[in-house]
Amino acid sequence: MEKRKLIIIGSGPAGYTAALYAARANLSPLLYEGFFSGPAGGQLMTTTEVENYPGFPEGVHGPEMVNLFRKQAEKFGTQIVTEDVTAVNLGKYPFLVTAKSGNILADALIIATGANAKRLDVPGTHDGEFWQKGVTACAVCDGAIPIFRNQPLYVIGGGDTAVEEATFLTKFGSKVTIVHRRDELRASKVMAEKAKRHPKIEILWSHVLVRVEGDQIVRSVILKNLKTGQETKLPAGGVFFAIGHDPNTRFLNQQLELHPNGYIKVIPGTTRTSVEGVFAAGDVQDHVYRQAVTAAGSGCMAALDAERWLASRE
Ligand code: NAP
Repeated sequence: MEKRKLIIIGSGPAGYTAALYAARANLSPLLYEGFFSGPAGGQLMTTTEVENYPGFPEGVHGPEMVNLFRKQAEKFGTQIVTEDVTAVNLGKYPFLVTAKSGNILADALIIATGANAKRLDVPGTHDGEFWQKGVTACAVCDGAIPIFRNQPLYVIGGGDTAVEEATFLTKFGSKVTIVHRRDELRASKVMAEKAKRHPKIEILWSHVLVRVEGDQIVRSVILKNLKTGQETKLPAGGVFFAIGHDPNTRFLNQQLELHPNGYIKVIPGTTRTSVEGVFAAGDVQDHVYRQAVTAAGSGCMAALDAERWLASRE
C-alpha cells in the first residue's frame, strides 16, 4: 500500500497553509480537499468579501482567496485529491487513511476539516422544503439574493454571529428580527448594544421557531413564546440560522480526544492532539477565534509541528 510522510485532511486556509509549509519542507504532502462534505476550500467558499485578511487592502472574495491558497500550495509540490476522507485508523502506525479511491498510509496526519454552520430541525426548514428557498445558515453568503429584498427577515440565535448577521441583513430586509430562546444575548456587550440600538432590528426574547411556511419560497414563520406557550404566525421572507457551528470530526470516530462541544483537543500553544503524530489546525480545533487568518496561522504551526515530529523519529 502506498505510504506518505504527511497527509493533510481538509482544505480551508488551515489545510492549504499546512500544505504550503509542508511542501516547502520537502514532505511531499498529499491533501484531501473534500468533495461531498462541502465545497473544497471550506467556509470561505460561501463568504463574499473578506476585508480583514492582511495583505488585501481592497478586500478579496472568499472563493478567489481559496483559489490563491490552493495555487500556492500546489506550486511547491502539494498533491491535491478532490475526495472526502471517510475514515482513519489511528490505532495502527503508520496511520491508515480511507477515501473513495482506496486506502493509503501516513507517517503523520494534519486534520483541518473545519466546521459547518448548525441547522435547526424544524418543520419547513429541511432539504426539499424551504432550505435554500429562504432558509439558510449564512446571511453573509446568501443575504444579497433578490428574494430577501425588502422582506421581513428572521435570524435565529443570540450570539455574536446572530447579531453580526442581523446587522448585515439590515442592508437588504425591510426589518430584521432576532429570535432568541432566552431573555439575554450571548453576544459580546458592544455588539449586542449596537443591535439593540439599530432602528431596523427587533429582538424577540424567549421565543423559538416552530415552523416555516410558504409556497415556492418562505412566506411566514410560526414562533412560540416560551414564557406563555403562545404561538404566533408572522410574515417572513427569510430565515437565517445563527446557532453556532459543528466541527467536522465524525470521520475520526472518537479516536482523538475532543472537547465536550466536539472540537479536537490540542495541547495549548501547539497543534498536537491526543495521538502522537496527529496534528489539528483551523476551525476543527478552534471554537473561539474562527478566522481565516488564525486558521492559516495554525495550519503553519501544524506543518512545523509535524515536520519536527517526523525529524525527531528519523
Ligand atoms: P454561539 O456563541 O455558540 O451562540 C449560539 C447562539 O445560538 C446562542 O445564543 C444559543 O442560545 C443559540 N442556540 C444554540 N442552539 C440553539 C437552538 N437549538 N435553538 C435556538 N437557539 C440556539 O455561536 P456564534 O454566535 O456562532 O459564535 C461562536 C464564536 O465565534 C463565539 O466565540 C463568538 O464570539 C465568535 N464570533 C465572533 C464574531 C466577532 O467578533 N465579529 C462574530 C461571530 C462569531 P443560548 O445563548 O441560549 O445558548
